[in-house]
Amino acid sequence: MVVRHDERWHAIVGLPLALAPGRHQLRVVGADDAARDVAFTVRSKKYATQHITLQDERMVEPSSQDLERIQRDKRVIGRAFASWTEEAVPPLRFALPADGKLSSGFGLRRVFNGRPRQPHSGLDIAAPAGTAVTAPAAGTVVETGDYFFNGKTVFIDHGQGLITMYNHLNKIEVAAGGRVARGQRIGEIGMTGRATGPHLHWTVSLNRSSVDPLLFLPPAISAQPAAEPRADVGGR
Ligand SMILES: [Zn+2]
Repeated sequence: MVVRHDERWHAIVGLPLALAPGRHQLRVVGADDAARDVAFTVRSKKYATQHITLQDERMVEPSSQDLERIQRDKRVIGRAFASWTEEAVPPLRFALPADGKLSSGFGLRRVFNGRPRQPHSGLDIAAPAGTAVTAPAAGTVVETGDYFFNGKTVFIDHGQGLITMYNHLNKIEVAAGGRVARGQRIGEIGMTGRATGPHLHWTVSLNRSSVDPLLFLPPAISAQPAAEPRADVGGR
């Protein structure tokens, strides 16, 4: 993603949570095809561990039939995150997509029924089922679906590789291909898929890496750990 800010052009790159601490390089290719490498350092960060008990053991150890569906889901979800549209000015400031309590933050290590699983790749907002879910910024709906772990889901493409995903919905109120405005309803909070209670799991993905949604929210909003996490997969 390349944006103009304060008279300068900035390239913004999403880094995967699993990226190892240490030195890394980005290759920058200019319009003249000239390439140069830019070095950067990733520091380690300790994320808290969250232990979650799921009644439905199938959500921890899926059957072989479930695994086939999960593989199909992964392909569709991967395609949605790989979506690309040219957007001259992609949004860098989002509105919170639902009114509720920020329950589980980005990056938490997850242990389901005593077994470690993928870390939490988004931000959870806990609210009663039926609470409106709204687009945090303008964009195009690239995909909707109902997936084993993620439940009823909407993907919005905001341009230049910035994609947002909304999981566990009760109801989807938009269709693929449609434009949405900032604040427009896209569905309702629910607990479809792997969830222990009604909440929205919200993923923000930049160049196919899940990044912390808090980076895109006004600084006043910060995650408060919940007494009872509304657990989900948060994965892809
Ligand atoms: Zn989540």
